[in-house]
Amino acid sequence: MSIEITQLAKRFGQTNVLRGIDLKVEKGELVALLGPSGSGKTTLLKIIAGLEWPDAGGLHVDGIDWLQLAAKDRRIGFVFQHYALFPHMKVRDNLAFGLTVGPRAARPGKDVIRAKVDELLQFLQIPHLADRFPTQLSGGQKQRVALGRALAITPNVLLLDEPFGALDAAIRRDLRRWLRDVHEATGSTTIFVTHDQEEAFELADRVVVMGDGQIEQIGTADQIHDHPASPFVARFMGATV
Ligand code: ADP
Repeated sequence: MSIEITQLAKRFGQTNVLRGIDLKVEKGELVALLGPSGSGKTTLLKIIAGLEWPDAGGLHVDGIDWLQLAAKDRRIGFVFQHYALFPHMKVRDNLAFGLTVGPRAARPGKDVIRAKVDELLQFLQIPHLADRFPTQLSGGQKQRVALGRALAITPNVLLLDEPFGALDAAIRRDLRRWLRDVHEATGSTTIFVTHDQEEAFELADRVVVMGDGQIEQIGTADQIHDHPASPFVARFMGATV
């Protein structure tokens, strides 16, 4: 689905955390929000997810006013840095979780859920992990399961907040490639938060550079690299190369 954000603003106490954000994400696009810690990336994701509310501005998804919708009605897939898998559930039950909540009448039957979970396990290339518990998984495997759980509900929008931030470099590289493949296969409109420019440039169709609650630049990797739009962007790019 397409996302349109207009003049979005948010304060926490005296701090202006988001100051007039304008951003359009096209259907099926993978956009990275790139910026230093504290620039407002997570707050923007949380507002899209319905976990925080803006003080001003608009948020429309496929033309629908999402600020009028409760979080549970937005059908968002959300993956955090610190995997929130249910520790007492096997991988297959973690994947099934989103399909088993909601009004009883709307829930799919057991066989349908099982088939869907089997399909996801194949798609994520983790069928061998189906009957393990989260403590029996590596960090990278946990994030594959976390993404699978987010995808199980066929989300309108997929939001990823530093999903690979806690993992080491080689695993991050593998997961990036895998995420690109998953994204190509699902075509989910995806927003990926990171402070790592290599990650943003490798993964995203477009990169949104944020600094201090504002968007400093939106562009492709080449555009931002070759023509930084502000001294902030030039410094940020230089500082993290
Ligand atoms: P980023 O994801 O870019 O690191 P955040 O959106 O997490 O940035 O935070 C932006 C700013 O908002 C930071 O200064 C942070 O301390 C502040 N902030 C975030 N959440 C809250 C909150 N619930 N209460 C008060 N301040 C917050």
